[in-house]
Amino acid sequence: MVLVYSDNEKLTRELLAKGRELADALGKKVTAVVIGPGDAADEMIKFGADKVIVAEGGPETFKAEEYADILAGAIEEAGSNIVLIGSTKAGKELASRLGGKIGAGCIIDCNRVYLDSGELTVERVVYSGNAVSVERFNSEVKIATVPCKAFDPLEKDDGRSGEVEKKTYQVGEYASIVARVQEMVSQGVNVEDAQIIIAAGRGLKNREDLKMIEELAEVINGHTLGCSRPIAADLKWLSEDNWIGLSGHKVKPKLYIACGISGQIQHIAGMRDSSIIVAINKDADAPIFKSADYGIVGDLYKVVPRLIEELKKQ
Ligand SMILES: Cc1cc2nc3c(=O)[nH]c(=O)nc-3n(C[C@H](O)[C@H](O)[C@H](O)COP(=O)(O)OP(=O)(O)OC[C@H]3O[C@@H](n4cnc5c(N)ncnc54)[C@H](O)[C@@H]3O)c2cc1C
Repeated sequence: MVLVYSDNEKLTRELLAKGRELADALGKKVTAVVIGPGDAADEMIKFGADKVIVAEGGPETFKAEEYADILAGAIEEAGSNIVLIGSTKAGKELASRLGGKIGAGCIIDCNRVYLDSGELTVERVVYSGNAVSVERFNSEVKIATVPCKAFDPLEKDDGRSGEVEKKTYQVGEYASIVARVQEMVSQGVNVEDAQIIIAAGRGLKNREDLKMIEELAEVINGHTLGCSRPIAADLKWLSEDNWIGLSGHKVKPKLYIACGISGQIQHIAGMRDSSIIVAINKDADAPIFKSADYGIVGDLYKVVPRLIEELKKQ
């Protein structure tokens, strides 16, 4: 039995697709767990779950200790030995606590999950993106956390049917309490869902030059700006919402245009799955060109205005 949980609805659908694939190969079923209101339960069945357990009576806001209790109960009930959890901040904390609680192996941030000779095998990027580690479990219950965009969701199938069961699990009393919940202030940028991203890197000389990148995004109907780490973390010209890469957001747009980005492995790790990658860089040996489908070797201060001019003509 494969069990799937994430606090992020979209990610849950992606996990359901992988869960379905593993379960079909093993001749097993997929159970999804919802903690709290079960509004999304029917939707989960249409996206691949055979059964949805709606766990009621848990804490109102996320708390890893109690959520681990709930998932431990669901795993036992469903007889699951493969557990896929979304690699959100909450998901990673939950997965590791759960692993400790039930004595299961737990591997974080798996970009690939597959069966090799019937054995659950995962791959994750290690050493700042310089190597891929291929790992297996030696525990009976295996927990893998998976980041957004690692897998595509299945097409919604309105004809699918399954079971929805409401359950209340016993949760322990813990020393910590949630004193206050403060929503993060977002700039309203959602790079993870963007279909076209124009990304700026350290090749830009001044913050004002971002206007040129914005104009390119505008004429190409992209509207979404991305950036490398220095632009968000060091210079703070754009927010962390725009930051793409290993420690930023993972994106999968149809078109990714990298302007003045060298293409270090930590940046590539976040955008390598883009369908078409265009790189503009004045250094013909910049590593970004190894990942690019189309490369323009040139000064972005000349290339970008020319592109805008040509695109405006169309
Ligand atoms: C643990 C760890 C995690 C990291 N996570 C991330 C991450 O998530 N995302 C990320 O982006 N980075 C990350 N980094 C940093 C990463 O290693 C690079 O330092 C960073 O990606 C470089 O950003 P850049 O390409 O904008 O700048 P640079 O490497 O300085 O490249 C600038 C590029 O612009 C070109 N250029 C300059 N002027 C022009 C011009 N006029 N016209 C055209 N091209 C020009 C240059 O040739 C150069 O290739 C991480 C690093 C570590 C150690």
